[in-house]
Amino acid sequence: MLSYEEALDHLLAAAQPVEESKPAPLSVARGRILAADVAANVTVPPLDNSAMDGYAVRCADCAHAGVALPVAQRIPAGSVGHALAAGTAARIFTGAPVPAGADAVVMQEFCEHGADGQVIVNQVPKSGQNIRRAGEDIMSGAAVLRAGSRIGAAEIGLAASIGMATVPVRRRLRVALLSTGDELTEPGQPLPPGGIYNSNRHFLRALLEGYGCVVTDLGRVPDTLEATRRALRDAASAHDLIVSSGGVSVGEEDHVKPAVEAEGALSLWKIAIKPGKPLAFGKVGAGGTASSAAFIGLPGNPVSCFVTFLLFLRPYLLKRMGMATTLPVARQLVSASDWSKLEDRRSFLRARIAPDGRVELYPNQSSGVLTSCAWADGLVDVAANRTFKAGDPVRYLAFADLL
Ligand code: AMP
Ligand code: MG
Repeated sequence: MLSYEEALDHLLAAAQPVEESKPAPLSVARGRILAADVAANVTVPPLDNSAMDGYAVRCADCAHAGVALPVAQRIPAGSVGHALAAGTAARIFTGAPVPAGADAVVMQEFCEHGADGQVIVNQVPKSGQNIRRAGEDIMSGAAVLRAGSRIGAAEIGLAASIGMATVPVRRRLRVALLSTGDELTEPGQPLPPGGIYNSNRHFLRALLEGYGCVVTDLGRVPDTLEATRRALRDAASAHDLIVSSGGVSVGEEDHVKPAVEAEGALSLWKIAIKPGKPLAFGKVGAGGTASSAAFIGLPGNPVSCFVTFLLFLRPYLLKRMGMATTLPVARQLVSASDWSKLEDRRSFLRARIAPDGRVELYPNQSSGVLTSCAWADGLVDVAANRTFKAGDPVRYLAFADLL
């Protein structure tokens, strides 16, 4: 049996990032992976500007509270004033450039109207107060976004703030998805005797699309060697990766292993984790050609399938998508539950954070209980032969960091 890290190392070593990239408009860039660093051609903000509605002044003119100054100009946001003459103030609004010569802005709440259009400044300003400095966010030439990062709302905003209408992104991964198992029935259909609904197909598609993959859903493949081989051959040509669920045990109804071996090459790993012992990894078609694709076979049990996706397929996908970091950051939290079952494998327990901040376990940790994955908002990572009690520290992997 391989350890989790050994299996992951094998997978990541084989994961070549896709190379093609193109500029994507900001409106469709969310979730994409940056193909290159993005540097600023502008300074943000471009000029010193006011953080408040108020009056721009020279501190030297306001040595004591109650000074009356003539208001020599009015500067709304979007316009540029002129140099502030000594002994005058400028009416100014939030975001408007601070005129040359002014070294503070006094909030309008600390000012009142005086005679003859003067302003009475009821505060002794400190130099620099309420002024946002040019370049305080971004200096021209600075790298603003890094290659290999995933573009979220904040990154889109940052790109827009430096005037970029597009960002360079890697092409999406093309993934073919197939389910094995003659017992599988599609949702919406009547359930025949002996049948179960195909759940893996639907959550795998959702997970893959959540990572920005373009998914070809090939549905269920009949449990025969010929049908499985044909499905793999067809899928290999137009895809980077084929993902299957089920059929990776070594029962006589499990055709994935012999089919991938016949069409390419396969390693079947027994990994010392629970849930999700078997994982198949290989390729279909002659390696490196347009008609070849990597292959990953996930276990059929829905919980095993879900958890192995997060533990193995996710980092593999992220690396192939071109992401710089692929591993989640685990958090050290306190358990609210006891775990007294000695497992000889490292376990990933479905868990969630209770309102008091401690981690509670779903009561049924069976790998057939998909309810646990919907209830949970993360996994507790427990070493083999380890138990814990409420109050003990546990290692927690949040779905929010994974999905
Ligand atoms: P297998 O790995 O094919 O032996 O399947 C292991 C268990 O998972 C069996 O109980 C299957 O019925 C179940 N299973 C396999 N594929 C799916 C699926 N797509 N949806 C729900 N259950 C599945
Ligand atoms: Mg099966």
